[in-house]
Amino acid sequence: MTATPAYAAPSARAPLAPLTIERRAPRERDVLIDILYCGVCHSDIHQARDEWGGSIFPMVPGHEIVGRVAAAGASVSKFAVGDVVGVGCFVDSCRECPQCRAGEEQYCDQGMTGTYNGRERDTGAPTYGGYSTRIVVDEDYVLRIPDGIPLERAAPLLCAGITTYSPLRHFGVKPGDTVAVVGLGGLGHMAVKLARAMGAEVTVLSTSPAKREDALALGANDFLSTREEGAFRANAGRFDFIVDTVSAQHDYNAYLGLLKVDGTMVLLGVPDAPTPLGAFPLIGRRRRLAGSMIGGIRETQEMLDFCAEHGVASDVEVIGIAEINQAYERMLAGDVRYRFVIDIASLRDG
Ligand code: NAP
Ligand code: ZN
Ligand code: ZN
Repeated sequence: MTATPAYAAPSARAPLAPLTIERRAPRERDVLIDILYCGVCHSDIHQARDEWGGSIFPMVPGHEIVGRVAAAGASVSKFAVGDVVGVGCFVDSCRECPQCRAGEEQYCDQGMTGTYNGRERDTGAPTYGGYSTRIVVDEDYVLRIPDGIPLERAAPLLCAGITTYSPLRHFGVKPGDTVAVVGLGGLGHMAVKLARAMGAEVTVLSTSPAKREDALALGANDFLSTREEGAFRANAGRFDFIVDTVSAQHDYNAYLGLLKVDGTMVLLGVPDAPTPLGAFPLIGRRRRLAGSMIGGIRETQEMLDFCAEHGVASDVEVIGIAEINQAYERMLAGDVRYRFVIDIASLRDG
């Protein structure tokens, strides 16, 4: 066991504060990673505040991890000391169910083991995430960060990147398709960049009119302010595909009305309460409402390589660990441009 400096939520109602955690000694197939950067996902807030229920405290959030391999177990074959690597939203799964065999470990029949707010499969010990100086992970759940992406801008790809890449690929978005991205935050800004890189025509649907210029600078072809009178009526039936990244409750029915015949809206955001859904917005135009959760290890590597090839990376605001509670408040106010990333040196030196 190694004592490791971290930041943790002591309970659902208390701000994050310093905590020393123990990391297991690397086993045969483990790599020990010195963490350099960790992105701040809205799921960190949902879970640290127990908005989805079942949270384990104290909680060390963080599942957008980039670091350097500091040690490797005797049987590790994919990574060597010094390699720059990433860890995303899960660190283990059953490895035997149909989804694990297919490389879609996020949908494991026994449940994936979350990078934090989960329990190790063998010991039952709680897992702790990337708001810490090091982490120990089985090599099968570690990603290679390709050259060419600045490391702080690579970290958010491990969740925001794969979460938006996977449904764009799965639902077959192709050049010329009209894609709407709802919510311009961490996930939303990656959806814009990735859908554009895949050749789609992208429109941002936002509650924040002040984000118009940013949206266009990120590559969007158009911007709609959804709080504007008549916005939904004027754009009815316009899109092939809608990526919904909104973190708070909102009316799905209104957005469904923006889809063409046979259009698909995929839910990525996870509001803390259900929303009523009418049949009419779906049946009238044979529309589909779907969901998608992160992506498997194979697809995450594919996404990282795609980003390196297409010059795609996250737009980040780097913060010190002491600013984390303020960053949460700013995200809740929709004031993030477009991902906070913690420089873990601030935890190591502090
Ligand atoms: P974020 O950076 O905070 O962005 C969320 C955006 O949603 C905000 O910037 C805002 O954009 C919009 N929004 C917020 N409140 C709204 C409201 N009441 N009505 C309409 N729009 C609103 O969050 P994130 O990190 O991208 O995460 C977004 C959601 O995805 C969270 O619920 C998170 O837990 C979930 N998530 C899911 C997965 C998955 O696998 N499915 C993975 C990661 C995260 P505008 O200012 O442009 O309106
Ligand atoms: Zn996340
Ligand atoms: Zn499985």
